[in-house]
Amino acid sequence: MSYNLIKQLSNKNENWKVRVRLSRILDMVLIDEQDDTIHATIQKNNVKKFQTQLREGRLYSLSNFQEDTYKGKDSYWPLSKEKKINFLRTTVIEELKESEVTISQHKFEFVDYQTIVDRFGNNKHLTDSLKNIIGKIVGVGPLENVHVPMRNIDIMNPEEIKIRITLWGPTSNQIEDNFYNNNPGPFVIIVTSTIVKTFRGEHYLSSTSATKVYINLEIPKTATLIDRNVEKTEIEGIPLQFKQEISENVFTCLATIENIEKNFGWYYIGCAKCNKKVKSENDFWCNNCKSNSNFPIPRYRIQLNVDDGTERAIFILFDKEAEKLLHTTARELSNKYATMNAYSTLPNKIEKLIGKTFVFQLKLNDYNWKEGWELYTIEKVFDNISNDETAMKLDHITKVRCQLLQT
Ligand SMILES: [Zn+2]
Repeated sequence: MSYNLIKQLSNKNENWKVRVRLSRILDMVLIDEQDDTIHATIQKNNVKKFQTQLREGRLYSLSNFQEDTYKGKDSYWPLSKEKKINFLRTTVIEELKESEVTISQHKFEFVDYQTIVDRFGNNKHLTDSLKNIIGKIVGVGPLENVHVPMRNIDIMNPEEIKIRITLWGPTSNQIEDNFYNNNPGPFVIIVTSTIVKTFRGEHYLSSTSATKVYINLEIPKTATLIDRNVEKTEIEGIPLQFKQEISENVFTCLATIENIEKNFGWYYIGCAKCNKKVKSENDFWCNNCKSNSNFPIPRYRIQLNVDDGTERAIFILFDKEAEKLLHTTARELSNKYATMNAYSTLPNKIEKLIGKTFVFQLKLNDYNWKEGWELYTIEKVFDNISNDETAMKLDHITKVRCQLLQT
């Protein structure tokens, strides 16, 4: 029985059969006996069928697959080659023994710094193609929690250029906080399947769901980097990228509503799926879901001018909390006002909030920290200020404003 090599695959309609190692399952990289690599894709509806049969690092013979090339719409592309293999429903997979064929465990294509910069600027599909990078770890940041865990690391690549990599989710846990204190290093890290992004003008690499991290993996490239500098590598701590944990971003104050801003309306039309504002009231395009939203729903967004005795500020009251205070939904209220200019006419129910005092719990968002914007989003409103509420630790707007200015 004869096998084909990856380099022989072409778009002609032939019955290909290859022997490969599944080197990386997350980004589906296959290697053959001549050390050639090819990317494979499995259509969503076939994933279940194949995922139980495929194990990372194992050898397989594959037949009845489709040989394909990348198209403009394929945004993720882990190898520089244009060829790929598509698993079909009828694709036959047989596991091979290690004794049957010799195929290396790993094969990486590493990018240099210029490629990272070039590909970011290039607005074609290459922008999103996935990058493998190698370098010595020179900086490790703390594990941060930004809805999901994240950690920054700095590496010195083989060209001696420092590059930041931001690891998200489970990959951020693959590196421990002080691992370098107990071991002299150096640590050569390989990070697969990253995408190029920029932050304040600097290019950096961001992990994806296909990213895998290897430290001091035994391949020749690692050895050359380790030999280069024999002395102990200095690893520096990287400061937090995001301010404090979410819990510390919440403050509570007692304040009176002095006025309600009419110019921005009191509701918006929100996507039924994600609640984000749809683009216009005609086409209901949701930029967040990247689709037209069916049956979008009016949602409250009320801009309150408040005073807590120390300072004035603008608090934004969103849907759920507004509903609690007004005992009616934005949809019901906007239906009632449909005959008037609903958007800019303030319903009586809302107008009646003026002059009332509440305990507000506010959440500082990225804009507050970065730009010091004077708009604060209300997380919770406590509408009868009694017993347990008075036990809450209250902050003053002036104090919060000072904190924001200091950062
Ligand atoms: Zn949406």
